[in-house]
Amino acid sequence: MKTKVPAPLDKIARPLLRWFRARARSLPWRDDPRPYYVWVSEIMLQQTRVAAVMPYFTRFIAALPDVASLAAADDDALMKLWEGLGYYSRARNLKKAANLIMEEHGGVVPKDFDALLKLPGVGRYTAGAISSIAYGLRTPAVDGNVLRVVARLTASREDILRDKTKRAVEDDLAAVMPKEAGQFNQAMMELGALVCLPRAARCDECPLAALCRAHAAGLEAELPVKSPKKERRVEARTVLLIEQDGRFAIAKRPRRGLLAGLWEFPNFAGEKNRAEVLAICKNAGLSPKSVRRMKAARHIFTHIEWNLSGWHIRLSDAPKESLREPRSVYAASPLPPLTWATQKELSDTYSIPAAFQAYAPKNA
Ligand code: SF4
Repeated sequence: MKTKVPAPLDKIARPLLRWFRARARSLPWRDDPRPYYVWVSEIMLQQTRVAAVMPYFTRFIAALPDVASLAAADDDALMKLWEGLGYYSRARNLKKAANLIMEEHGGVVPKDFDALLKLPGVGRYTAGAISSIAYGLRTPAVDGNVLRVVARLTASREDILRDKTKRAVEDDLAAVMPKEAGQFNQAMMELGALVCLPRAARCDECPLAALCRAHAAGLEAELPVKSPKKERRVEARTVLLIEQDGRFAIAKRPRRGLLAGLWEFPNFAGEKNRAEVLAICKNAGLSPKSVRRMKAARHIFTHIEWNLSGWHIRLSDAPKESLREPRSVYAASPLPPLTWATQKELSDTYSIPAAFQAYAPKNA
């Protein structure tokens, strides 16, 4: 660990803690920082804002109040609880980690940083957050907010997306961490979330303004330095909302890859025209009585952007037995067979990711 930390980091703890105690938002996982709550909230907060997480957290904890119930959760019920939060691998990792905690830690979320790092879905930031906030250990928790605050405080031009920069910031913060480690980490995050904002830092409200090097030099808008991100791949996809006797066709996605294991409306690469959609139906032995274009939509993932077109296909009524028998519209494809679900089942039972929601029955 480095012995010399860049100024003014050695002076920030007291004013920061004073500000945090006066201004901290009341959050369920903050007001009751038991390890399970801190862990679940930190996983939900990865890539999702606090305001959006709040209702999900409350619902999740009501349904799965502890590690044991999470480890035993039914996969579809878990995905339903996560529906709308996105990045579903987070939920799957939570359950895997819960099983590991049951097997190897007697059902207690570990406090040790290295043991936490071994849990699926837990990286250095989350491990630091759990061990400091839930257990009071002096471990830094450095996320994008904290990196931005530190880069501005120290007027550093190091690229904050580089691992080397993150590790250096972890070392610096570990060296200046007061005994109120959990509060210190939360205060840094809170300052980044509420005051030292990415585009417009609110320096006039900042408890560290008198210490901040970027503020003194008028560099707030220039810092932090970030290497440019790779461009997203843009793909066209066509989604089919296939309806028969008040039921809608859905299929389960493969267990690996994008949106793994979630339910979807049948969909195909490229933008299909009416004739192509009719050909798909014919190949699958389906008899449309109407085919209507739905609105175009767009969904953005981290690395991919889907430009979506959709068709609402109403099928002629079929003998009941064929409805009970799932069929595939994916002609000669290895994709899974179809399941037929009512609109109520789609909202209560099956987890359809946000990427497909523009083609849900309510939008038909
Ligand atoms: S003074 Fe401004 S730039 Fe510096 S830490 Fe505070 S909000 Fe960020």
